[in-house]
Amino acid sequence: MKLLEDRILKEAKALSDEVLLVDMFLNHQVDCELMYEIGGEFSRLFARDGISRVVTIEASGIAPAAMCALIMKKPLVILKKQPSLVLKNGILQTEVFSFTKQKSYMLTLKPEFIAQGDRVLLIDDFLANGEAALGAARLIEQAGGTVAGVGAVICKSFMPGLRRLKDMGFHVEALASIKRMGAGEIVFED
Ligand code: 5GP
Repeated sequence: MKLLEDRILKEAKALSDEVLLVDMFLNHQVDCELMYEIGGEFSRLFARDGISRVVTIEASGIAPAAMCALIMKKPLVILKKQPSLVLKNGILQTEVFSFTKQKSYMLTLKPEFIAQGDRVLLIDDFLANGEAALGAARLIEQAGGTVAGVGAVICKSFMPGLRRLKDMGFHVEALASIKRMGAGEIVFED
């Protein structure tokens, strides 16, 4: 998606060969017009997948996923990462290792927010090792849904997540795929 790639080239910063900072339009300050375009692009890419619900992971997946759910006119469910006092009983949890924080957290879903047979579009801000997406897929499937699509705003294709998800048969789409990055350079896949 050219609009997104241009924005990454203009404003993103590679903190290392592996971590990209996009907190000026996605992770801290949010450009809602760009998010709306991103939501529209996901809705076109997954138009033939029979999506009945959009699921994302807090916090940075929420903005693009909400725009996508709005445009697709489907409900949005946010998987929780933070422990909660109100979310205790009747929940599904799975452990996920965070690449950026280098520690594990419990991803949490109230199964009542997935209907039996739901065809879920899973949206997240980044796809790196695929741990977050695979954890989310475990919860969605335990709750009775199917992951019908995985949409990443930014994929770091030099990391294993994209290949892992594709090898498992998921329909994966990334709006910007970075094949290499480092000090002063960000190179996209063709
Ligand atoms: P994975 O589970 O695929 O290894 O990593 C995906 C998750 O880690 C995303 O939810 C995202 O929040 C975070 N993440 C992975 N790589 C990056 C990165 O380069 N920059 C930022 N800001 N977050 C990342």
